[in-house]
Amino acid sequence: PLGFFDGRIVELDEKIVAMEDRGHQFGDGIYEATRIYNGKCFQLKRHLDRCVRSLRELKIPIVYTYEELEEIHYSLIQASGITNGFIYFQITRGTAPREHGFPKNVIPHLSMFIRPMQTKTELQAVGVKCFLTPDQRWLRCDIKSLNLLGNVLAKQAAHDAKCFEAVMYREDKNLITEGSSSNFFIVKDEVIWTHPINNLILKGITRTILLEDIIPSLNLTILEKAFSPEFAQKADEAFITSTSLEVMPVISLGGKIIGDGKPGKITQKLQRAYREKAHQECK
Ligand code: PLP
Repeated sequence: PLGFFDGRIVELDEKIVAMEDRGHQFGDGIYEATRIYNGKCFQLKRHLDRCVRSLRELKIPIVYTYEELEEIHYSLIQASGITNGFIYFQITRGTAPREHGFPKNVIPHLSMFIRPMQTKTELQAVGVKCFLTPDQRWLRCDIKSLNLLGNVLAKQAAHDAKCFEAVMYREDKNLITEGSSSNFFIVKDEVIWTHPINNLILKGITRTILLEDIIPSLNLTILEKAFSPEFAQKADEAFITSTSLEVMPVISLGGKIIGDGKPGKITQKLQRAYREKAHQECK
């Protein structure tokens, strides 16, 4: 593992955060996480597009170009020698005396790290159990912000219940939104369902790849429509998606077995197609 901060490569345990960095004190910043397959950044453009959108929504000045960000990604890959891994970066509003309103004339801070990561193929083959829990987050879940307390508490509740992931639902409408660090899908009568894009979920890059690239190429049907936990528990198949998990089958939800308790056929098709795409693009 290696890091990058303020223009130089650093060790991960180097102390770099200023006391009054607004990311540190307010969670005032955004992040992105990209997979590295075979020494290449998979779908970096889509991650950078989302990063720019998050920055715009938070009115954080954009001071890095795509070229610069890409160059820093590749300098970390090179310096670390990691060919299969995970690059995380965050941009905070900057450092200024602690005061809620935006400070003037501060420079956003970029920090980035790389760690090795392998696809969890064994887990992907058997699937995971998911916990059901109310979604307690704020109403701008479309921004990939550093504020992750709702997600952290949901994930921990899942782990306490011996589940891999928490699937959250908004209590007011009784509709599932997404996982604590993933998007959630079900398959019912050959139709793939997932929550539509709005302020209640993050527009996952893995989700976008499935919806825009893979599902059309496999002639499968997608319905972007919210559904209840009870509807999901009666689905034929379920799965979650994220940059690190790719397409991960879900075999139980809130204590109810999904389908026959094994990864579903359509889920496995999507899983294979996604891996194939990653392999093709990162040769
Ligand atoms: N939803 C949330 C809340 C997440 O934190 C993540 C990623 O970590 C995702 C969805 C999946 O997004 P992506 O496919 O871009 O990794």
